[in-house]
Amino acid sequence: MQFTLRHHTAGDYDALPDMNDINAGVLSREDQLCLNELGRSLLNTRSNSRFGISLLHSHFPVSDTEVFVQTSDATKRTVSLSPQRLEPTLQKSMAAMNVRFEETQTSNAISLIGLEYFLKQSAPGIDSINSADANVLGSIHAVLDRHGKTARFGVRVIHMSVELADDEVYSESCDIDRRVLICEVVNKRDPLLARSIETFWVWPDLCASADDPDIIAHCPAKCKITCLDGNFGHPRGHKDLHKTIDGDETSSASSS
Ligand SMILES: [Zn+2]
Repeated sequence: MQFTLRHHTAGDYDALPDMNDINAGVLSREDQLCLNELGRSLLNTRSNSRFGISLLHSHFPVSDTEVFVQTSDATKRTVSLSPQRLEPTLQKSMAAMNVRFEETQTSNAISLIGLEYFLKQSAPGIDSINSADANVLGSIHAVLDRHGKTARFGVRVIHMSVELADDEVYSESCDIDRRVLICEVVNKRDPLLARSIETFWVWPDLCASADDPDIIAHCPAKCKITCLDGNFGHPRGHKDLHKTIDGDETSSASSS
């Protein structure tokens, strides 16, 4: 099986559910069933350390001349995603990280849309999505297609540019004025996460032996990224968000 990959357009992002839409991140029973099967498929094809599954969503519009690129700050332990101008130099150095399947697939090739990119020089150990991935991607597409979920879930290369401990997770918040998504590393017990939506799941090897069919719910370390409830909306740091959770809404709102 071959594959084709094109970068996203403004229209591809417009078509995604907005995270501010209250239902965008609520997983239905059908979503859960589909995720369980996707996890099984990744484990069966031994591609669970290469790929995870992402929740397709958007936070703000992008233009046709931009692509979403990830950068990281090792000192602050943050990972950021923002639209960057699609210049030839960028085009040469970027590799697709988060992709979705085209609604219409050709018979002998998997057709992908790149939604988020990493810079190759920042991830020397990570292969770009290539023809060796085509069969695995075909298996994932078959599950999504059977559940009617190709517009709901995407595939993401597992690339943690800031390493996470087992009890940590990336917590993504949106700075809408600067059009940047910022992932901070937080402890999984952080009360902040009560207001967040899971957006990226992986299935570690130890899930393979689990008899429980609900491997998404009962496999540890399954979620790697959560996205803060869109109702927070405005640019705020972690401390400000804690102020809001502790009930001091007015002061944090006026400082943002
Ligand atoms: Zn998000």
